[in-house]
Amino acid sequence: MIIATTIDEVRKQVREWKNEGLTVGLCPTMGFLHEGHASLMKASHEQCDRTVASVFVNPIQFGPNEDLDTYPRDFEHDCKIMEEAGVDMVFHPEVSEMYEEDLCTYVDIDVLSETLCGASRAGHFRGVCTVVSKLFNIVTPDKAFFGKKDAQQLAIIKRMVRDLSFGIEIVGCPIVREADGLAKSSRNTYLSEDERKAALILSKTIRMGQTLVGGGERDSLRLREAMMVKLASEPLASPEYVEVVDGSTMQPVETFKEGDLVAMAVRIGDTRLIDNFFVGDPAIEI
Ligand code: AMP
Repeated sequence: MIIATTIDEVRKQVREWKNEGLTVGLCPTMGFLHEGHASLMKASHEQCDRTVASVFVNPIQFGPNEDLDTYPRDFEHDCKIMEEAGVDMVFHPEVSEMYEEDLCTYVDIDVLSETLCGASRAGHFRGVCTVVSKLFNIVTPDKAFFGKKDAQQLAIIKRMVRDLSFGIEIVGCPIVREADGLAKSSRNTYLSEDERKAALILSKTIRMGQTLVGGGERDSLRLREAMMVKLASEPLASPEYVEVVDGSTMQPVETFKEGDLVAMAVRIGDTRLIDNFFVGDPAIEI
């Protein structure tokens, strides 16, 4: 596996591959990798001739009171996971390689970024769209792989690619969970033993929501209320939102249909966790 730290190295290698007629897949990550990330890389390995993964904790997508400084990092372990998942090149730049000190050009997206996580994380999706645009320009992949775990991000990237004519196919990959149902996340490492147990309320609530939908529920308000009641049964959980939104516009809907998104953000102690399901996707087994 090639480890590249500069934009020039990446461009040169990708140019060689393209000259040989090979297709390239990209998996952007912030590192501290787990099986969720590996699933994107394996999908890319299956669908593309060469796979590039990026490991970059992107400072401009963190708010002033967020966890940029404490975000977990372990590049050596990340390399093992990437190698096993079939990654051909990792791009692991310093912040100074990605951003000049006087950076003043950003990619921003309206409407889709105003709901769900965007409502409480000002500037977050601007940071995401900017770094992903830069990675798209650097790697020029044929396909890029994103997790449904970050469903709003997936919808936003798809829209950005359409609106800015990137000409890249965006592939959404299913949420990978722990055996007990908790969605895998680099931030799960922040949880104490008690909080880890309490965090199960997210996947249990998702499961309950899927059961209601499976039983024919299509009214957003009723579904949200039932899910809020379930979340309230866990004393350590403080829900930030439970929303039902159109699957492509991310705007709230009164009644929902296949492809729409049921999403939540919940604080367990100081840790903010998210979980969701797209209506019509297979129900999670827990
Ligand atoms: P992150 O490192 O958290 O920025 O995530 C990088 C990519 O991995 C994003 O596309 C995430 O949606 C995806 N991802 C993170 N956790 C999971 C998971 N549990 N299942 C599937 N994809 C995931």
